[in-house]
Amino acid sequence: MNTLKVLVAEDNLINQKVVTRMLERLGYQADLAKDGLEVLGALRQQPYDVILMDMYMPNMSGIDAARQICQEWHPTIRPYIVAVTASTEETDYQSCIAAGMDDYISKPIRLDELERVMTNYRVTHSPQLEGRQREATAPLLLDTE
Ligand SMILES: [Mg+2]
Repeated sequence: MNTLKVLVAEDNLINQKVVTRMLERLGYQADLAKDGLEVLGALRQQPYDVILMDMYMPNMSGIDAARQICQEWHPTIRPYIVAVTASTEETDYQSCIAAGMDDYISKPIRLDELERVMTNYRVTHSPQLEGRQREATAPLLLDTE
């Protein structure tokens, strides 16, 4: 199992199951949130690496949740946000990016697309690698003192 913390924000029960199962096939275990408010609640409990964020959810939309996350968490610690939407409108893509989201996939989600965004995240962020690099440099710094 992959150690990344993934949060699936999706109001539709069937879509929740589909995405969760796809993530499992790729080796990721995910937590669920059914609207933007639950996303914020989950983030205040524990950090997440990646959020798959449905754009349209009741109570608080994915766009509003993304805006709130970008206000509340520093860019270096906030999760990587992938917008998920049934729309293929260019304007929707633009509003996702404007709200601070990092990537975008369309519904119905295809396994290879999901793999693409997760791999892209790992390549560009890889927190485990950064942690190892920090550990590796720590003794060297001590030696120079
Ligand atoms: Mg929805």
